[in-house]
Amino acid sequence: MSMTTATDIHALLKAHFGFDTFRGQQEAVVRRVLAGGDALLLMPTGGGKSLCYQLPALAMDGVTLVVSPLIALMKDQVDGLNANGIAARFINSTLPLRDVERVQAEVRRGAVKILYVAPERLAVEGFRRFLSGLTVSLIAIDEAHCISEWGHEFRPDYRNLRPLREMFPNAPVLALTATATERVRRDIMEQLGLKGAEVFVSSFNRANLTYSVQSKDSVEQQLPRLLSKWQGSPAIVYCYSRQETEDVASALRVRGWTARPYHAGLSAEERRRTQEDFSRDRVPIIVATIAFGMGGDKPDVRLVVHTSLPKSVESYYQETGRAGRDGLPSECVLLYSYGDKARQEYFIRQLEDEGERRNAQAKLDQMVRFAQLHTCRRRYLLEYFGERWDADDCGGCDVCLASQDRGEFDATEIAQKALSAVVRTGERYGETHITGVLVGSKEKRILAADHDNLSVYGIVRDFDRNQLREVLGLLRARGLLALNEGEYPTLRVTDAGREFLQNRSPLSLPRLRAEGKPASRAPEMKPSAGAPLEYDEDLFEELRALRRRIADEQDVPAFVVFGDVALRHMAARRPETLQAFERVPGVGQAKLAAYGAAFTEAIRRYADEHGLPARASVNMGGSSSGRRGATYEKTWEMLAQGLSVEAVARERELAPGTVIRHIEVLTMQGKSIDITSLLPSPERRRDIEEAFKRLGYAQLGPVRESLGDEYSYEDLTIVRTWLRQQGRLPKG
Ligand code: ADP
Ligand code: ZN
Repeated sequence: MSMTTATDIHALLKAHFGFDTFRGQQEAVVRRVLAGGDALLLMPTGGGKSLCYQLPALAMDGVTLVVSPLIALMKDQVDGLNANGIAARFINSTLPLRDVERVQAEVRRGAVKILYVAPERLAVEGFRRFLSGLTVSLIAIDEAHCISEWGHEFRPDYRNLRPLREMFPNAPVLALTATATERVRRDIMEQLGLKGAEVFVSSFNRANLTYSVQSKDSVEQQLPRLLSKWQGSPAIVYCYSRQETEDVASALRVRGWTARPYHAGLSAEERRRTQEDFSRDRVPIIVATIAFGMGGDKPDVRLVVHTSLPKSVESYYQETGRAGRDGLPSECVLLYSYGDKARQEYFIRQLEDEGERRNAQAKLDQMVRFAQLHTCRRRYLLEYFGERWDADDCGGCDVCLASQDRGEFDATEIAQKALSAVVRTGERYGETHITGVLVGSKEKRILAADHDNLSVYGIVRDFDRNQLREVLGLLRARGLLALNEGEYPTLRVTDAGREFLQNRSPLSLPRLRAEGKPASRAPEMKPSAGAPLEYDEDLFEELRALRRRIADEQDVPAFVVFGDVALRHMAARRPETLQAFERVPGVGQAKLAAYGAAFTEAIRRYADEHGLPARASVNMGGSSSGRRGATYEKTWEMLAQGLSVEAVARERELAPGTVIRHIEVLTMQGKSIDITSLLPSPERRRDIEEAFKRLGYAQLGPVRESLGDEYSYEDLTIVRTWLRQQGRLPKG
């Protein structure tokens, strides 16, 4: 059987990216592209889009072109790839001419696997000539919605992409975006000429984000409470105006937080520096206007707070989307006050075009509805984007979390009164008016309408207006009331509501959140995605510090070294040897070689200082890692039954390479497994042994590099295992 599966995508996934498994639709997309087919991939932020072109790039001959409008991010992305041992470069207007020429020469020589380019380059004659001489394996179009005028980020330069497709008719095109509306999707396909493209649509649910709305009383007091909860983790605070970002940032600084404003009124240099300080973990809090937009892709933002109402649900989804790109639990909080709506409306009224004005108002109304929701906020967001969400309790929004422990109350009487008030006033009034009538308010418009003479006037004593607002919302959620759309939304009673009024059937509703003063008691947020990994927080912090030192030294953002996911695993499992370190997610061959020594040393020292028991190099133990142990155990059982590696791989839906790695670990645990049938030919074995002797046994990367592509990681692993079994490996 052959072990030289040089392009085995699972092997590439672990070797270069350090992951054991694909996520969601990644594997299907990768296979589609490798088979030469076009594809359109719609996936939310943080879903793992980039791997879908980065991995195929490694498995194909020639260079992969990545078109991206995010010039400011290209360098970071390329640094990240280089840190993973992937030959990537970028060409855009920030690169001096001399460097452009150098990069072009490297690409021509075939030394570059991934080349990022800005769309405007494609209009340059000389650049097109350069491209035409290349073997292009794949064309990836990032932020593909920029090609559509229907999208919110149209870039005329994206119209230059069509000729690219014609220049390389055999290269598959992969278009990627986190914008999902049907119209934009169709436009992308049409504009790019992707006739037979397969469309991959992921759910837009961001399972690791919790959403909540608090009524805004004092930003300066509410913010520190939220920030304290996340203790120094990166946070973005969105404000309405430039002045507000300045004020809020300095209010935070006075209270001892390190916070920086960010808005379009600052010089380009200042903005660049702030962004860099944020991405390099020197400043944890950015207080920004929406100018802090596409440029920010820090993966470990744990908290996004809006101190004023966004203008649409799209904006809100996008801005909150900057939280938790690395998939770890993160929180989104909207501080809402009714007055913010008026502030937005003031601007809407200035719009000249009638259609535009109406459109903007409709979008704002939908956002206001989100803020006033008494049903699941996640469902609202997803349904806004046309997705169905069936779960009753999302477990990750304030409404769902609160109803979990609130229980219900008998709402028959108050519901009767509220519905009657709507009927008696002629179903022509909104919430404010109805609640006013119910509590017997002396407001002018109520008296003017003669509503103080109605039987329902002032019949409610045990609920205040905020609570009544909530009751009305809940009755809408139950379908007893409905809203008439329009400039001034009015309430009407539905057929179900009339039936309820007639039958006087009992009704219970979730206990109200508003207690006199609304929403003063924010529910405790729980992470909604997966079981949290238990890790040593002190060690995590030490490793974070080490990461920052290395990042500073190499002048790259912190995440280029490692993401938080990797650091948390390290802090949970405490790998003290390189073998153990290699199994941390996010640790591929290049990072193992570059950072393994530094991190394992820090971990050993920490364990020493704290008198923690050393963990054997192959021990996957630790409180949270039963799963891993079990998976090795399973492989062992099957091998013991006489199944071949291939059979085990098939049965368990693993890559053969993974099973081979299991075998190495199992033999290190003292299991006896006969691997002679897996060994490469004697000459190849000799070559591999030679290389190991020269370069050491700890790291496969350099060994493979020196041997070349005909030798797979599986071959190396098998030979190393075999040498160890024979006692021919130096201990250490
Ligand atoms: P997007 O471009 O869709 O916003 P990214 O490509 O930046 O998402 O990926 C988001 C995060 O998910 C990154 O931290 C990345 O390392 C991680 N990731 C991607 N694919 C995997 C995978 N198969 N297993 C584990 N983590 C992954
Ligand atoms: Zn919910």
